[in-house]
Amino acid sequence: MAVDSIDVQLPSGKSYKQPIGLFVNNEYILPKAGKKFETINPSTGKPICEVYEAKEEDVDVAVEAAVKAFKFGSEYRSLTSQARGKLLTKLADLMERDVEVLATIESLDNGKSISMARMDVQLSANCIRYYGGWCDKIHGKTMEVENSRFMYTRHEPVGVCGQIIPWNFPLLMWSWKIGPAIACGNVVVLKTAEQTPLSALKACELVKEAGFPAGVINVLSGFGKIAGDALARHDKVDKVAFTGSTVVGRAIMKASAESNLKKVTLELGGKSPNIIFNDADIDQAVKWSNFGIYYNHGQCCCAGSRIYVQEGIYDKFVQKFIETAKATVVGDPFKEDTFQGPQVSQLQFDRIMGYIRAGRDEGAKIEIGGERHGEEGYFIQPTVITNVNQKMKIMQEEIFGPVVAIAKFTDIEDVIEKAHDTTYGLAAAVFTTNLKTAIQVSNRLEAGTVWVNSYNTIHHQLPFGGFKQSGIGRELGKYALHEYTHVKGVHLNLEMPAPIY
Ligand code: ADP
Repeated sequence: MAVDSIDVQLPSGKSYKQPIGLFVNNEYILPKAGKKFETINPSTGKPICEVYEAKEEDVDVAVEAAVKAFKFGSEYRSLTSQARGKLLTKLADLMERDVEVLATIESLDNGKSISMARMDVQLSANCIRYYGGWCDKIHGKTMEVENSRFMYTRHEPVGVCGQIIPWNFPLLMWSWKIGPAIACGNVVVLKTAEQTPLSALKACELVKEAGFPAGVINVLSGFGKIAGDALARHDKVDKVAFTGSTVVGRAIMKASAESNLKKVTLELGGKSPNIIFNDADIDQAVKWSNFGIYYNHGQCCCAGSRIYVQEGIYDKFVQKFIETAKATVVGDPFKEDTFQGPQVSQLQFDRIMGYIRAGRDEGAKIEIGGERHGEEGYFIQPTVITNVNQKMKIMQEEIFGPVVAIAKFTDIEDVIEKAHDTTYGLAAAVFTTNLKTAIQVSNRLEAGTVWVNSYNTIHHQLPFGGFKQSGIGRELGKYALHEYTHVKGVHLNLEMPAPIY
């Protein structure tokens, strides 16, 4: 049964139409059990609205819709690759057209500042458009071996892609997942994070408007252990792509192993080192390093949460870093000059405060911050911690908040050892004006992304993913296409006689 959109009030007093059903077969439908759950405004801690919750049986319905859309001879499978590309580029255009409403929803539901939310929508549209361009450029190779036979490869879609996304970049992760999956000709059942279901549901209106055939993109709101697990375990799901915590990444892999051995790609946590050498441009290093940790309130898997500064400039760097951090505008995400809004939930707020306490208990020094900001919502002051050592919990575990630890190092060998001393390998950065240091250190870092003299500048053309326990596979760029295709080898016999026994 179809479900109508509801009017949602914005802090400005205006309202907008929010779809709340499960998006299946291009309609917003009621789940079988008819249950809803609240989504909370992290700036106030109060509910925004309720959306319908997908359970196992609703995952079945969405997967069936996707299976049907993927059937050989279906409307979708009969599209030319260029027509498929047009659908994605149209979707990107529509996202740009609706940037204000999408960004507003993102700020409301996730708490990110409106200026950053607008940037997220633009990055999302860029990603979708980029993959639209790939649709008619995906093909195999020919292998010319001898005249008697002809061999070639085909890059075929995997089929039904189960995609599970987190709450820190709701619309951007939706785009990173849908873009390459559709570019390769797959169909999608995507589950949003329970904390932030709204922007993806709204964007599904644009999926329909762009003209995607029914069942190609299906989006469910629901909880990880119920709908997420059902998707990861589903026998008719051919691949699962997940972004989130390492602990859940393990559960997804297990669910795949215990069901149909579906392909798995994982983009997981990080504890990324940001290395500042004596010869760095210190003012630029301070600004980028602030952005490296406080962007998106520290809720970035690649956040530069461990800063290592070479002895010669340590004191000066720390002093300048603190001055810059103190100037961060924290508060109402809808104010144009706000940089840092609230953390996404009470649970995240409590986790982060727990890490700050653990740091204090282990003897670290809280230079600034460490407390709640304001009276309501889940705001945390930008926090700088020094006097740390490698064994401390705050140097080993992902905090996922506006909390940075700054430590000293002596030389390259010392900092490489420290940088590698975690289970993660998602990202790293090097600040230096010496080209040799930049290249030699970035070559040695165990990380899927290395920034030289910048931080957090992600681009849809460059692959993103982790070494070590930060993940499996790559998102973005041409590399993501490998994750969404099967390669088939075809032998074509021209005149080779059958073997004689
Ligand atoms: P975080 O700890 O940052 O909230 P999670 O890794 O718990 O991140 O969640 C990321 C996504 O994974 C969310 O969409 C969540 O619902 C989903 N999820 C959580 N647990 C499971 C699970 N056991 N199986 C599948 N998906 C899950």
